Amino acid sequence: MGQHVEPRPSFGYGVRAMSLPLTPLPKPAPPFPFSAAQARMWEALLQRRFFKLIGGGSFTQADKTAAVSRAYLSASADCIDIAPDATLIGLVQQEIENSQSRSAVLMVSVPLDPDPHFRKIELSKPDCIQCGLCLPACPTQAITLPDALDISQDLCYGCGRCVPTCPTDALHLLPFQVESQIEAALSHPATEAVEIHSHYVDPYMLEAFLIRWQPLLKNKLIALCFRPETVPAEQMIRFVQTAQQTHPLPIFLQIDGAPMSGNDHPEASRPALQSALQTRLAFEQAGLTPPIITISGGINQHTATLLQAPEAQFIAGVGMGTMARQAVWNLSPEQAALKAHSITQAFQHGRWHALEACIATNCTTG
Ligand code: SF4
Ligand code: SF4
Repeated sequence: MGQHVEPRPSFGYGVRAMSLPLTPLPKPAPPFPFSAAQARMWEALLQRRFFKLIGGGSFTQADKTAAVSRAYLSASADCIDIAPDATLIGLVQQEIENSQSRSAVLMVSVPLDPDPHFRKIELSKPDCIQCGLCLPACPTQAITLPDALDISQDLCYGCGRCVPTCPTDALHLLPFQVESQIEAALSHPATEAVEIHSHYVDPYMLEAFLIRWQPLLKNKLIALCFRPETVPAEQMIRFVQTAQQTHPLPIFLQIDGAPMSGNDHPEASRPALQSALQTRLAFEQAGLTPPIITISGGINQHTATLLQAPEAQFIAGVGMGTMARQAVWNLSPEQAALKAHSITQAFQHGRWHALEACIATNCTTG
């Protein structure tokens, strides 16, 4: 007779957790032609302890990117994900080479379509009454008001928080054009992974992108970042299969909950968790093996605790952006390293121990 398993609380994900049995740990890195850093990152994904610093698809301030990367590299982040900017890539490459492990993967984020991660704010100067109401809304202090309002385009990463604060509608989000930078970013020897962000989740657009850039992509790991709830499940599956069938290396997903939310509420990562569960369920219901799934959007210091839930054990790791950057933003290098260490440990080790315990006790998700 099988072991009696007590019913578990639902955790409110909105899908039946019974269909999501916890599978045994997969074997370490498969025999793909990985670089040493790619193999290490892939192993972290397979072991579900992956931690990625998201530098911001539109964030182009060099010093801040280098400093934040340095802090998380010292804390053994598996991957640093930055904007497609050759200067930034060179700086982060240098930080990786200077780091103790020298084994993080440098990932570049690129847009497939008008994705919200690729925007910058534009100020309509005639409409601005210099009231200063927008200043406190900005998480990067991109907006200053010395004499007249000024917005640093390097510090702005298009989060949109300032827009609703303006009484005169003087702030507008415009697409951040990176098309001309994509070739340089993909051909840079330090770029070992690429994250393709999509708003429309259109398989044909993805196929065209992958074919166009195939020579530069062939030795890179690819992540697909999207919000599955915006498209039918069938379309989402075809989107993922397009990448799986076109790209020679394995791909993984970054399921986005609340993009650039910068929210430290304990439940902020719940939308990402719920979307990840629905994604996995869609593959299962179609009789397909779900791809490796990570989450982003609303990731904060509480997410590691939410990921201890049996329903969430399949999640391979997190991409942490706004909250990870803000946590170390104004600290000394030593304090920043300590803070980054405390953040990554919760995902890389705390979660790993919980998973081992779960498997040791024959834990299921029922
Ligand atoms: S609040 Fe967001 S969108 Fe507005 S200036 Fe700051 S970073 Fe840019
Ligand atoms: S809130 Fe609007 S009007 Fe006021 S300073 Fe900012 S942009 Fe100008």
